[in-house]
Formats: sequence, structure tokens, C-alpha cells
Amino acid sequence: MADLKVKKPIMEEALAKETGIDWSQAPSPAFVVDERLLERNLKLLKSVQDRTNCDILLALKGFSMWSTFPMARNYLAGITSSSLFEARLGFEEFGKEVHAYAPAYAEHEIDEYLTYVDHIVFNSFDQLNKYKDKVLNHEKNISIGLRVNPGYSEVETPLYDPCYINSRLGIPFESFKPDELDGVEGIHFHAMCEQGAEVLERILVHFEEKYGKYLHQMKWINFGGGHHITKPGYNVELLVSLINRIQETYDVKVILEPGEAIALNTGYLVATVLDIVHNGMELAIVDSSATCHMPDTLEMPYRAHIIGSGQPSEKAYTYRLGGMTCLAGDIIGDYSFDEPLQAGDKIVFTDMAHYTMVKTHMFNGVNLPSICTYNDEQGIKVIRSFQFEDYKGRLS
Ligand SMILES: *Cc1c(COP(=O)(O)O)cnc(C)c1O
Repeated sequence: MADLKVKKPIMEEALAKETGIDWSQAPSPAFVVDERLLERNLKLLKSVQDRTNCDILLALKGFSMWSTFPMARNYLAGITSSSLFEARLGFEEFGKEVHAYAPAYAEHEIDEYLTYVDHIVFNSFDQLNKYKDKVLNHEKNISIGLRVNPGYSEVETPLYDPCYINSRLGIPFESFKPDELDGVEGIHFHAMCEQGAEVLERILVHFEEKYGKYLHQMKWINFGGGHHITKPGYNVELLVSLINRIQETYDVKVILEPGEAIALNTGYLVATVLDIVHNGMELAIVDSSATCHMPDTLEMPYRAHIIGSGQPSEKAYTYRLGGMTCLAGDIIGDYSFDEPLQAGDKIVFTDMAHYTMVKTHMFNGVNLPSICTYNDEQGIKVIRSFQFEDYKGRLS
């Protein structure tokens, strides 16, 4: 017991030293976004805007913690959305430019959509032609764009490759109709994920070869997201020169819409060890869950970093960390530590602000399915359907 009393403060001290945060104050489990780090990212993004006069938008799909929007709006031009709920959240809480792209817009949603957005990007000529008159006749001035598939990408995980074979995202060049661009003011592509400006440079070669000649008649070009601008070592100079070159060559405004880069390395997920059990190896059960709180560790999959931990067997004490659900596969991963873990220890996962938080809530603002019953007398009975308030209320 004496050991226990001595050890815990040491562990928390190490965490405090690494993060500058007193973790004893944090509830568990909890996402903690460090506003100091967030502001640092925002300042870097603002410097790119200042040097190029491009617009940088926050892609809500990656980070939609709206309590931080008052800070973010000091630095960014607006938001981009890919669902009605995201568009509304951006409109209500961000209050600058609201852009929208969706693989398809539903007829019963389009009118409400248009009340929120300044730009709308369509994914096919059929969608464009279906809604074009409505957009052009809208009382608000809404700019129309088309998302194209540049036909080139370098993303290694198919799940995150918008240009993977048979992709539904963006019009492939074979289906591009140069004579149906009436009313279209912009072109959009999104072909990157966690990548550097060198990849953008190579995509632009392919993009310009195919679509360059149509850019001269456009007002803007949106380079999508996936730019890892705030990652240490990112080539900001190259990005700035690419943006400037495109803007000068085609007389267009460049728009970027990163999600991850805004919140990269700015947040944590703190959890607590509840018990240690043994079955062929040491198993630590924590008050969090891969399935419920960090689904990307199963989906992508990837290994989340825990402060002070090493690979299995790298340090003296190795544990398999499991979540508190009853799902057998709710495994966070195998980690080693310098000291044995014990119930009550806090562990802190890094880089949990982007994607992890939104996936834990209502990802991409896509509404939950309604819940119904069926019986022969009443037919289908809707017991519960979900609203914007349910989405907004799950975030902060
Ligand atoms: C996901 C997505 C983004 C943001 O991507 P990040 O990788 O988070 O920067 C931007 N635009 C579109 C169309 C997207 O689907």
C-alpha cells in the first residue's frame, strides 16, 4: 500500500510534465482539448491565408467541437460541411462562410441546406442539373461548384482514399461534361489524407492536365482537405508557392478545407485503469473503450499513443488494454510501461481531438436511423426519430 501512495503522484507528475496539465483535475474518461495548442495550429493556418489570400475552412467532419469556434473564427474563413446538420451547426455557431459538399443531396433537405450555405458543391452533373435553378434563383447569392476526381492519389489505406478505384466521390474525367458548366463557378477536388505539399504538387500535375483548361472560366478552386499543414516538418513554403501559382495562372481563388490539420496534436483522451486481470498475459481494463470512444483504432486500424508507454515488451511491464464493453474485440492495444499498472492509474492517449471525438458522437453530422416497430395492426410505428438538437447536444 505504501508503494501505491508513492507511485501515483509520480505517474501524474510525468503526465503533467509532458503536457503542462494537472490531470488530477480531469474527469475520467474525458476528451481534453488544449486551447493553447489549438491556437498555435490556427495561427499557422492563418499565416498561410495571409501570405496567399486563399481561404482556409474548417472541415467539420474532422473536428466539430463548437465551443472552440469563437477562437477558430478569429483565424479561419469559415467551415465546410457534408451533411445538413454540419451546415446548420456551422451557420449557427461559426458564423462566417458555410460551404457544403455531399455525395448526394436529398430532395427533402435541399431547401433547408440552401438557407445555411454560401457555396454548394455537387458530385455529379445529374445533381447539378436537378438543383441548379433552385440555387441560382435563391434570394442568397450561392456559388455552385463541382467535385471532380483528379484521377490521381497516393493514399495507402483504401478506407481513406477518395480516389480509390470505383470511388463514388467526385466526377471522373470520362464523365466530365465541359458543355454543361453553365452557372458553375468553382471546381473542387479532395484526394489527400494526412499528406504533405509534395503530394499536392503531384496531384496538381494530373489535375491541371485534365481540368486546367476549364479553370480559366472559374472563380475558385477548392483543394479539399488532407493537408497535414500543422504536422512538424510540413513544407509550408511549397504549399504557399503552389497556391500562389494556381491563383496567378488561372485568376481564381484557392480554398483549402482541412479538418485534421486544425486539431492535430491538440487533444487527449484521459482514462483510468479499473482492474488488472490475467489470462496468458496481463490485461488492463480501462473506463474507456476502443469501440465506443476511439473506433478508428479498430476501423483504420491504428495504434493510439499513450504518454509514457512503449511497444509491447519494450518496457518492463506489458499489458493488453481492453475497454469496458462486453465486446471481445474491444481491445485498444498492447502497451508496455516502466512501472506496473494498477487500478486507479490514469492513462492519457494523445492526438485525440480530431476524428476520434466526432466519431464518438454523430460522425459527419449524419443523423441516426429512426427507431420503429412493426406489427400487423399498426404497421410501422416510429417510436423515436432524431433531430439536429440531438446532434448538437452530443458535442459542445
Ligand atoms: C474529410 C474531408 C475533408 C477534411 O479532410 P482532413 O483529412 O480532415 O483534412 C475535407 N473535404 C472533404 C470533401 C472531406 O471529405
